[in-house]
Amino acid sequence: MSSISDNIARIRENIFKAAHGREVKLLAVSKTFPCGAIAEAIKAGQLCFGENYAQEAVEKVDFFHLNSPTVPLEWHFIGPLQSNKTRMVAEHFQWVQSVDRFKIARRLNDQRPLDLPPLNILVEVNIDEEDSKSGVSVNELEDLLPELMTLPRLRLRGLMCIPKAQASELAKRKTFAKMKTLFDRFNNQGFKLDTLSMGMSADYVWAIEEGATLVRVGSSIFGQRNYSSKI
Ligand SMILES: *Cc1c(COP(=O)(O)O)cnc(C)c1O
Repeated sequence: MSSISDNIARIRENIFKAAHGREVKLLAVSKTFPCGAIAEAIKAGQLCFGENYAQEAVEKVDFFHLNSPTVPLEWHFIGPLQSNKTRMVAEHFQWVQSVDRFKIARRLNDQRPLDLPPLNILVEVNIDEEDSKSGVSVNELEDLLPELMTLPRLRLRGLMCIPKAQASELAKRKTFAKMKTLFDRFNNQGFKLDTLSMGMSADYVWAIEEGATLVRVGSSIFGQRNYSSKI
């Protein structure tokens, strides 16, 4: 079995090759993995981590804040976000990638502590228009982005998507390309978006080739997830 640091080195090389000189950020998705696994990734120079479950995530954020206060970790919330969890997230994270409603955004804005910089946010787009998926439709995006600009404690940074899981390479590339077109369109309209988050373990190379600036990689770094033994 390869180690977490070997995995990170291999993925960084793949990212470098696919990016052709562009800068692409690697987010290590550590949900369900213990602090020990995160510590190994930190030793390999990884500082950005993604988490899906607020309670589990806050325990990890607090652990590293207490034990390694000088390591500048960056935590991204990437899971579905319910109203009753927004305060935890607003107080502990630097980024939220899964914003898909104004109501949730306003709560994050109102609950963001004043001694912290504005919370960076991405809007999750249901780009493949799947019934079961969270995320806004392309039409809703037109209305939501200007509304988000009115919230001073949030900083709109870009878009995120999770394409259909079982899609072919061609279908996924089309989906990623659609996201890139949207991203460019909003920037041409004057939004200053710098982050396009797309691509996971199975498809991050394709996502980068289609324009991703941030990829979210979990199992290729940490191994298979076991949901029964969270934390
Ligand atoms: C779990 C998760 C990932 C990581 O998925 P892998 O296939 O393990 O790389 C990325 N993004 C989101 C939103 C996730 O929930």
